[in-house]
Amino acid sequence: MKIHEARIHRLNDADMSAGPILYWMSREQRVQDNWGLLHARELAGEDRPLIVLFCLVPGFLGATLRQDDFMLNGLAEVENDLAALGIAFLLRLGDPEEEVIRCVLEKGVGAVVTDFDPLRIKQGWQKEVASTLRVPLIEVDGHNVVPARSVSDKQEYAARTLRPKIHRLSSEFLEDFPRLEPLVCSASPADPVDWHSLRSSLRMDETVSPVALVPGESAAHAALSAFVDHGLHGYAERRNDPVAEATSRLSAFFHFGHLAPQRAALAVAGSGKGEGQAVYLEEVIVRRELSDNFCLYNIRYDSLHGAPNWALKTLDEHRSDPRPFLYSHEEFEAARTHSPLWNAAQTQLLRSGFMHGYMRMFWAKKILEWSPDPESAHATVVTLNDRYQLDGRDPNGYVGALWSVAGLHDRPWQTRPIYGSVRYMNSNGCRRKFDTKAYISRWLN
Ligand SMILES: Cc1cc2nc3c(=O)[nH]c(=O)nc-3n(C[C@H](O)[C@H](O)[C@H](O)COP(=O)(O)OP(=O)(O)OC[C@H]3O[C@@H](n4cnc5c(N)ncnc54)[C@H](O)[C@@H]3O)c2cc1C
Repeated sequence: MKIHEARIHRLNDADMSAGPILYWMSREQRVQDNWGLLHARELAGEDRPLIVLFCLVPGFLGATLRQDDFMLNGLAEVENDLAALGIAFLLRLGDPEEEVIRCVLEKGVGAVVTDFDPLRIKQGWQKEVASTLRVPLIEVDGHNVVPARSVSDKQEYAARTLRPKIHRLSSEFLEDFPRLEPLVCSASPADPVDWHSLRSSLRMDETVSPVALVPGESAAHAALSAFVDHGLHGYAERRNDPVAEATSRLSAFFHFGHLAPQRAALAVAGSGKGEGQAVYLEEVIVRRELSDNFCLYNIRYDSLHGAPNWALKTLDEHRSDPRPFLYSHEEFEAARTHSPLWNAAQTQLLRSGFMHGYMRMFWAKKILEWSPDPESAHATVVTLNDRYQLDGRDPNGYVGALWSVAGLHDRPWQTRPIYGSVRYMNSNGCRRKFDTKAYISRWLN
């Protein structure tokens, strides 16, 4: 089966030469259901070895032990699963721009395939590697059902402008994945990664501890099956209730690439579970892919300046409005505000590495209300989100922060102090939606 050509994007014009194919694994840390690895396998054919390389950058985007531990355990599973297929796995520590080039030269590689990722730092590495390499660097979008570069060539205004484009194309792209075939021509075996020494050589930020969620491709598939069998039927009704915990909890698996969002979409689409099915597909395809669209086409995705002009103007007009409460970054971080509901949400995040989606919106909007200005509020939201959420450092997080603080993909609402016409949320709204007392007692006891 050929990979849809719209998933494939050449990053330079070099010709393929003799030698192994290198798959530079980055965002998609899995063996099956991976369009990039499948394309690399296709290029390797019957007579070339295939090598998988992962470049580990210590402290990448502020990662802590919580995120590194999850990722390293997932990569150990990748190494094992690749070995069973005769594919060598290499892990190099350091600057990917240098390590990829070094590996290409050492192994006499004929072409390099890598993952699509809209974040600036990844785009920068790929650009640098593409311009230095004398062999092709080929990007494959294995994260979006409808590839981000082909669904739209510009920043979309809102979900309502992206949705029809996705719906028009999704039947063409929402196809099942072929199995990754074992390699016919194996590379000389790589030395197994010494995970123990690797961990001791990394100076990981141990102030944020790992969480109980089991990482890796097989755990992700088990979580998906459990959600489809037991959670999906109540998803439409209960997904906004943080006490019910009725959402899929798959976001960390998507973030680290342990599960293809397309696999989740296929499982849900084939489940026959009525309204839950349609609502989930809207979240996992349209909402999620809107985030990749934003980060791909707006280089200021992690800054308040990435927000729409109407929101920047209204926030500026209300800059001097008196704040009922004012907290520092440290007070927010330590969950020391006057609001038990807010403190419960922050405590859920600190302890479990996950905050329910409805609470993420309330949490971020209150940071806007209780910070001295919109810029510091936005910085606090992004910093705490990236540091403590297991699924942080993701396009969804940058979009969620701007949606909450500065109206991204939203519209102006009734004007009120501090927020201007940015949508407002308060604890009375939460009380109408769910049992706030039960949520508070779960996390503050
Ligand atoms: C302030 C704020 C910060 C956020 N930070 C992150 C983050 O760092 N990483 C992250 O993955 N998501 C983030 N989100 C989006 C969303 O809250 C989470 O994706 C969701 O809560 C994850 O839980 P789940 O997998 O159980 O979601 P489910 O309800 O089961 O949804 C299924 C999937 O759809 C996608 N999705 C759901 N809601 C959204 C949304 N609003 N925007 C984009 N995609 C969505 C996710 O991939 C999710 O896994 C943030 C939202 C806000 C408001």
